[in-house]
Amino acid sequence: MKKNGFTTTILHSDRRLDVEHGAVHKPMHPSSEYAYAQSRELAAVFQGKAGFTYARQGTPTTAALEAKVTAMEDGVATVSFATGMAALAAIFTTLLRRGDHLLCSQHIFGNTNSLLGTLQELGVEVTLVDATDARNVAAAVQGNTRMVFTETIANPGTQVADLMGIGQLCRQSGLVYVIDNTLTSPWLFKGRDAGAALVMNSLSKYIGGHGHALGGTVTDTGLFDWQGHPNIFEAYRKGPSTSWGLTQIKKKGLRDMGGTLAAEPAHRIAVGAETLALRMDRACANALALARHLQGHPGIARVHYPGLPGHAQHERAGQLFRGRYGALMGIELAEGIDCFDFLDRLSVVVLATHLGDTRTLALPAAHTIYHEMGPARRAQMGIADSLIRVSVGIEDEADLIADFDAALQACPPASKAGS
Ligand SMILES: *Cc1c(COP(=O)(O)O)cnc(C)c1O
Repeated sequence: MKKNGFTTTILHSDRRLDVEHGAVHKPMHPSSEYAYAQSRELAAVFQGKAGFTYARQGTPTTAALEAKVTAMEDGVATVSFATGMAALAAIFTTLLRRGDHLLCSQHIFGNTNSLLGTLQELGVEVTLVDATDARNVAAAVQGNTRMVFTETIANPGTQVADLMGIGQLCRQSGLVYVIDNTLTSPWLFKGRDAGAALVMNSLSKYIGGHGHALGGTVTDTGLFDWQGHPNIFEAYRKGPSTSWGLTQIKKKGLRDMGGTLAAEPAHRIAVGAETLALRMDRACANALALARHLQGHPGIARVHYPGLPGHAQHERAGQLFRGRYGALMGIELAEGIDCFDFLDRLSVVVLATHLGDTRTLALPAAHTIYHEMGPARRAQMGIADSLIRVSVGIEDEADLIADFDAALQACPPASKAGS
């Protein structure tokens, strides 16, 4: 049978898992424990047979969502978590040991940056590199390097990592390549295409899409052979060696650490995922229109958006992300315009942290999500004091443009440079 397309596959995923009573949605299973008529059957599931035991390790509801994410990423298996951060913490803490070296893009999500600090305290060596060029990554590889981690499009500077080049390097050097695909989602990009071993997605963003449920996943692309990886526990060196890494993440990272996704948010996210491609296309088109409009506007000094020809990785983004450029941008206001003055005059745009929502959201990045890291680290990450992060939603394009225009127009003349 011909393989269905992206959206058809998501829409019919539950039905094809043989849902009870012909329901088109996998029903929510809130049960904590799963019972067996025969004790030997219970023992068999504990010993590796497919099935459910205790909900901390997953339920039929999370399994249905995981099947969708696996299909979206063209992967072989997925494990879900309560949040994207729980998924990242599980990857790093279960696959890295004291004395290992992690190579990481210097342009990363603020909370991930903070998590790296924890890893360093635990004895993992971390080096940050400019991942927009794989040669920087190659130059930083050491004898104890085990893993390379990058996001696709960085937030809020929108740097696009050299995803293909890093993939080639990791393949040649036998390194575990982990991609955080949150900003692009599997609709714009599949980590498998760049040779990633593992792909992480925050489901709280574009995949869920409606700002009402948190979740995260790790998807195994099946491309990495864990045979030579020294950090896999003996107990998980069973079955095909390409699956050992995800097994360890599930056992150590989910079962032992307990960051489990509950049935209710799993269901909400699964419903949101049905329209991922439609929402992203609309949000990306809105973002491109807004970026083009703001670029050259007298009230705007700079627009960071990969869809603009002046962006350093514009061409690469065009090749990697199906001709779309994501829906997140950074804007720097013209000198003299106070970012708080400007933001408070927006009325359609919501002043809130978060991204990947159906609604357009904006915040002053240096003063909020990047406040804790301090000025030196912000400078290293290219985050100016006046930088505003905008996560573009699916509103009517004209309403968004009018909202930005009106707010810029209304900023008090006293706060405008030279006027
Ligand atoms: C939001 C985000 C995360 C964390 O996801 P949560 O679900 O909020 O925990 C990780 N990486 C990136 C790039 C993100 O934007």
